[in-house]
Amino acid sequence: MSAARPTFRFAPSPNGLLHLGHARSALLNADMANAAGGRLLLRIEDIDAARCRPEYEAAILDDLAWLGLDWEHPVRRQSEHFADYASALARLEAMGLVYASFESRGDIRRALAGRPDAPRDPDGALLSPFPRSAMTEAERTARRQAGEPYALRLDMARAARFAGPLGWCEVPAEGGEGESVAADPLAWGDVVIARKEVPTSYHLAVVVDDALQGVTHVVRGADLKAATSVHRLLQVLLGLPAPLYTHHSLLLDAEGHKLSKSIGSESLAALRSAGVTPDEVRRRAGL
Ligand code: GLU
Repeated sequence: MSAARPTFRFAPSPNGLLHLGHARSALLNADMANAAGGRLLLRIEDIDAARCRPEYEAAILDDLAWLGLDWEHPVRRQSEHFADYASALARLEAMGLVYASFESRGDIRRALAGRPDAPRDPDGALLSPFPRSAMTEAERTARRQAGEPYALRLDMARAARFAGPLGWCEVPAEGGEGESVAADPLAWGDVVIARKEVPTSYHLAVVVDDALQGVTHVVRGADLKAATSVHRLLQVLLGLPAPLYTHHSLLLDAEGHKLSKSIGSESLAALRSAGVTPDEVRRRAGL
């Protein structure tokens, strides 16, 4: 059997304009794909209908073309593939690893108010203090059937036991030997695997898509490194192959914050209209 052609992807969410941090990720993917004689895919991660907008998607395509990137078509848009995520979810449910959770983020915050040491996940979100064992499956089913809104959570202790010890191969952005990293999915607690509004979550959609698209190399920012523990767990539970991973360092602004849409980091579109060239963007992106 011949080895799969190296396949890379850039996977932005169209919930704002791209900034230099995205340029760094996109250009690194393109450079690594070129060096490996591989493919570059573009995936639009738009499961969050409340925040994603078609005009941001159009701006992403414009910015990437201006940077000189060339990707394969068709572009995969996650909002068009909910059935794929629903079938992965059904598989996890059939394994008894998923349960309905009726507590909102507000309920969790209120339950833990006055407990500054309450455990948090690697992204800083409070872990839910409402364990699966607090309610019977019959009660959960009845509440679901009564039309109460719910999210689906992964029973992490059980899922981690099922999967056994996990890790991944982390390849440096500069190339060279990969090193093995131990995964720690338990640090995430019972992660939400499907939100109230959509039959998936970032974690589930990314894992299903990477497998369906034959992605062999995931190159993304270091802020997503901890999430790789959940991704490896889901890959093992769903019988999906493990890509190689590269988590590149993040660009920081003058105050030392990572660039982000939420703090209004300068967009590529603004740099472009100020006369900055793609070569200058590459330099400012640290490449
Ligand atoms: N859509 C994610 C983001 O824009 C990236 C997902 C990934 O590369 O795994 O942050």
